[in-house]
Amino acid sequence: MGAILKHKRKSKRKKKKTCDVKGCDEDKRKSLSAKKVTKKTDLKIDSSGRKAYLCKEHYKEYKKATKDERTTKRLNWD
Ligand SMILES: [Zn+2]
Repeated sequence: MGAILKHKRKSKRKKKKTCDVKGCDEDKRKSLSAKKVTKKTDLKIDSSGRKAYLCKEHYKEYKKATKDERTTKRLNWD
């Protein structure tokens, strides 16, 4: 039984999810709304779903973009 399970798992192809930015093969770190990412950044998202998975570096870029916006907003509010 154990041996059969092992064999089955081995033959099963596991698709590794990577960053959804076009041309990027890094491991995904964060899932965000694809719409939001394309709106806030210049990144090209290559995702078929509503979610965009970003790697560490691209998430940093996204965070930076959204942070800048938040800072501007707060300045305007004060
Ligand atoms: Zn990436």
